[in-house]
Amino acid sequence: MSVTWTAVQRQRLRELNAPAEHENMTFPDSGERDRAFQKLEKFLVNRGKKRLAELRETRRRPALCELESKLVDALTGQGFVQVVTPTIISKGQLAKMTITDEHPLFSQVFWVDDKKCLRPMLAPNLYALWQELVRLWEKPIRIFEIGSCFRKESQGAHHLNEFTMLNLTELGTPLEQRHRRLKELAAIVMEVAGIGNYELVTEKSVVYGDTVDVIAGIELGSGAMGPHPLDDKWGIVDPWVGIGFGLERLLMVREGGQNIQRMAKSITYLDGVRLNI
Ligand code: ATP
Ligand code: MG
Repeated sequence: MSVTWTAVQRQRLRELNAPAEHENMTFPDSGERDRAFQKLEKFLVNRGKKRLAELRETRRRPALCELESKLVDALTGQGFVQVVTPTIISKGQLAKMTITDEHPLFSQVFWVDDKKCLRPMLAPNLYALWQELVRLWEKPIRIFEIGSCFRKESQGAHHLNEFTMLNLTELGTPLEQRHRRLKELAAIVMEVAGIGNYELVTEKSVVYGDTVDVIAGIELGSGAMGPHPLDDKWGIVDPWVGIGFGLERLLMVREGGQNIQRMAKSITYLDGVRLNI
């Protein structure tokens, strides 16, 4: 007979971001297990305190903010223009994305009142900007936004109600270069994020344009391309590519963590460190 962590111990180890190899440890009896737990917890608490000290003394910015800054530098360096658009959007804007009653995402939307909601994605605002910019700028038009998005989720280890999306887009990509370009854009982001081990998974769709997911164990980003059936509503006729990434997921994978909460905007964690230590 052997025993594993109690539910309470397991929960605490997850909060403290114990390395994955400790998750399924077994012990000959509960006494030995509890001693091992105390030792491991002490180590993890000290590690957290060190990281908090380092945050205060040298780095001064949480990983989420640092990643955002590095992405801004890399993308503006590659000719992309940063945009900032409202977090509150209208029901009409969602409907234009075909997110209405029947759409799976509709039930995940947080409503502010009967006509306004917290955006679950950046795409509707970026489409609206494209519609104006095609008149004003030569193509290709390269814009990106980094900002909060909101979805009611059944709170798994990879889902937050409030998360930070990066959506980078290029309007006017030559048709035959779209796949290559998506691959390049993914590579820029993954390099900045410090994740070398990932794959691109393409789903062919004649009707909707191919989609390309960026996967590293879990989904980190989803890419799409146009012409797309939605384009018409914003008067978009040129081919395009775009990818949306979750920044907290990028950090979670880079740091080898098991819980996305610690990388989120939070009052229980600071820079990935649980504060009740
Ligand atoms: P999933 O299938 O994992 O729920 P999705 O396909 O619904 O994700 P997209 O709409 O493709 O998500 O959003 C683009 C990216 O935003 C995702 O690849 C992911 O990195 C991130 N993301 C989406 N929903 C969440 C969430 N609730 N919490 C954290 N990150 C998220
Ligand atoms: Mg996706």
